[in-house]
Amino acid sequence: MRIATNIIVFHRIMLICAKTEGADMKLKMGSKRYTLVIIPDANSSVRRFEVPKLIPYIAGAGLMTLVSITLVLYVGHARNASVANKLQTQIVSRDAEYTSTVQEKNQTIEQLQNQVIQLSQQTAEMKAKIDDIRKQEDEIRTITGSGQVKISSADVAPAAGAMGGSSTQASNGEVQVLVEQTKSQLSDLDKSVDELKDSIADTKEKAIEAQQKLRITPNIWPVDSRTITSGFGLRQDPFTMRPSFHSGYDISAPRDTPVHVTADGVVTTTGSDSSHGNNIVVTHSKGLQTWYMHLNKMLVQKGDRVEKGQVIGLVGTTGRSTGYHLHYEVLKNGVSSDPKPYLP
Ligand SMILES: [Zn+2]
Repeated sequence: MRIATNIIVFHRIMLICAKTEGADMKLKMGSKRYTLVIIPDANSSVRRFEVPKLIPYIAGAGLMTLVSITLVLYVGHARNASVANKLQTQIVSRDAEYTSTVQEKNQTIEQLQNQVIQLSQQTAEMKAKIDDIRKQEDEIRTITGSGQVKISSADVAPAAGAMGGSSTQASNGEVQVLVEQTKSQLSDLDKSVDELKDSIADTKEKAIEAQQKLRITPNIWPVDSRTITSGFGLRQDPFTMRPSFHSGYDISAPRDTPVHVTADGVVTTTGSDSSHGNNIVVTHSKGLQTWYMHLNKMLVQKGDRVEKGQVIGLVGTTGRSTGYHLHYEVLKNGVSSDPKPYLP
């Protein structure tokens, strides 16, 4: 009998695995067995167990399987832990990213809200400027006698400016209300600007008409002098000393003082006679004429178109005159009239 022995010492237990070979006959029949000897300690009796030869293999295979499964589970767990760790890291990173993005968005929203407030303030300022332009336009129309213009006015409440004091964060609802108000105000201002544009065009036309009317109206003094030696109406004739009608103004002025035509017009008469001396008649519009007498020199000819303020002659004492002066006469539809209403 041959015994192959493996001994394992564990605490005080000795385990002897012995492969027992039975009789040659049994060996031939394949009835091999292992004998398991357990020696608890020196004072205890030895215990023997015989186990079929396949059992250790089955146990070994089971152990290997268990170890393999454990290994697979461990590797799987380690891999899952790694993935979980990566995911955790990603979540933390994303969370920080989202927090940063939200902060940026909040800042952008605040900037936009501030821009809305500024836009509202600019709208109010624009409204004030348009109102100012409208007042100036009214003044121009008053000056030119064109009458006032009634234009619908947009009521723009100025947005609250930064004046200090306590304040709270504007809510989205409040900002939205301001946005709607500003949109409405800008729409009204757009309408006002359109109306103002039309109104100013009309005012310009009226101003041109007024300017034209001024140009054709004899409303300036013909000479620099304001010394009237004889007015319009009845007077004592300087030659006959008898009451007579004086049909214009006698304005005393030194010899060769420039004589200005008092409105745009056309020279219709240049003549010389013993009564009026060298004299010029200028025809204006709307039935008005002006007459300049006793000139020393005449600087225009019949048919000349003359502009208001142009020098047409020089003061003299020609004709029925007692000294250097200009006889200035205004005729309305051919009838002499008092020059006074035409002079400034
Ligand atoms: Zn006179």
